[in-house]
Amino acid sequence: MITIPERLVFFDVETTGLDGNRDRIIEIFVLSLSKSGEVEEYETLINPERPLPEKITEITGLKDSDLLDAPTEREVAVEIREFVGFGTPVAHNLPFDLRFLNAMFRRNNLLEMGGGGIDTLDISRSLFPKLCIYPEGGGSHRLSNLMYHFGLQDSYANAHRARDDVMLLVEVFRHLQEYSTGQSQIEYPKAVTHGCPTCGSPMYLTYSDSQTILTCKRQPSCAVKLVV
Ligand SMILES: [Zn+2]
Repeated sequence: MITIPERLVFFDVETTGLDGNRDRIIEIFVLSLSKSGEVEEYETLINPERPLPEKITEITGLKDSDLLDAPTEREVAVEIREFVGFGTPVAHNLPFDLRFLNAMFRRNNLLEMGGGGIDTLDISRSLFPKLCIYPEGGGSHRLSNLMYHFGLQDSYANAHRARDDVMLLVEVFRHLQEYSTGQSQIEYPKAVTHGCPTCGSPMYLTYSDSQTILTCKRQPSCAVKLVV
């Protein structure tokens, strides 16, 4: 029996780095979807009051000058907390986003979000334990890989900007949910979702001519190659 929460809040944060306490959120996008179908969006850039590491500018395309006039977290933490409210959080690698949000809420004396929520990374891992790696997918359980897996690449870009990533997340969540409840029409060859039949590693999926080829990630030590 699957119970659908009253309100789902899909979100993604871009940050100055990987440390939930030391680093800061520089962009957040939240999409709230209630059971009745009502959709609301919240987004803001946040001035981290420190220079951005070069690598972050490379990944997100955001520069120091883009954040100079953005509000600081002190100015937006309350409205973010209110927007999220008691909705059920949904994110890809949820603990990462929650660490940053809760650290921000703590610094601003606001109620932290609880441990519950839906992590599409966990769902993906349990449904497709060793998901094959698509040509531009970047890694087995990356959001970008799921984008290719569900054939969403023509409508969505994995842009590493909060809004684009959340729009993709909503669609990936829908596909994961359909698949897990047996509503999906698609059946995948076992090697696509469970990895190499010999060694169990995820496989690289490539296309050549009219064929789809799976090559074991552990090549050359494992030489398994399949046409699917
Ligand atoms: Zn293998």
